[in-house]
Amino acid sequence: MRAYLLESRYRRILDRIGEACVRVGRDPGEVTLVAVSKTFPVARVAELHGIGHVDFGENKVQELVEKAVALPGRLVGGGVRWHMIGHLQRNKARDVVTHADVFHALDSVRLASELSRRCEEAGRTLDCLVQVNVSGEESKFGIAADRVHSFVDDVSSLSHIRIVGLMTLAAPADNPEDVRHQLRLLRNLARSYPASTKGNRLDWLSMGMSGDYEVAIEEGATHVRIGSAIFGSRTPD
Ligand SMILES: *Cc1c(COP(=O)(O)O)cnc(C)c1O
Repeated sequence: MRAYLLESRYRRILDRIGEACVRVGRDPGEVTLVAVSKTFPVARVAELHGIGHVDFGENKVQELVEKAVALPGRLVGGGVRWHMIGHLQRNKARDVVTHADVFHALDSVRLASELSRRCEEAGRTLDCLVQVNVSGEESKFGIAADRVHSFVDDVSSLSHIRIVGLMTLAAPADNPEDVRHQLRLLRNLARSYPASTKGNRLDWLSMGMSGDYEVAIEEGATHVRIGSAIFGSRTPD
């Protein structure tokens, strides 16, 4: 029963992603669904992986490590692609380098240096997205919108991380239309970055969660991070 529910929720999200793409003339193949499995057991991840889903996201290092040990990522020859989507402290950088395929929450030069150094030791390169605070809320992590381009320039000399795009969390809203302008701002920041600058490309836009992913896709998201709409509601921590 539960397995059936998970699969039907998942398929419904895929349908809605497809419909959102059609509305704005995009190819659904351009949008990656990152299934955010935080707080749910690895058995749920395995279930979804069993029906062919590849991309999973975690926002806490410890949980990422536990799940990636049980279900190894692409990096180490496994079938899952693990996305670390939450704030990271420098002293945990090594765990992300060991287990994650993609890091979505780069928000400081010091963290970027540490990740690059750890990647060099591990003999790998890590794809990173820069987290941008589009809502201007003080409580939010992320680089302020007017500093994003210079931040990307600042970290571009690091040899073992690759900046591939921008990520954001819009402000919580009952009506996703209320955050459309924030999602559009992220796209505009990526598009207005001069492509030639030091070889960086901001092709990926990681934005949109359970409440606003359809609007995010209409505004150009390449990665939507969806948790509760697939796995069910989380017990508040
Ligand atoms: C939890 C989380 C999500 C998914 O949130 P839902 O509302 O459950 O879809 C997306 N991004 C980040 C960074 C998260 O921590």
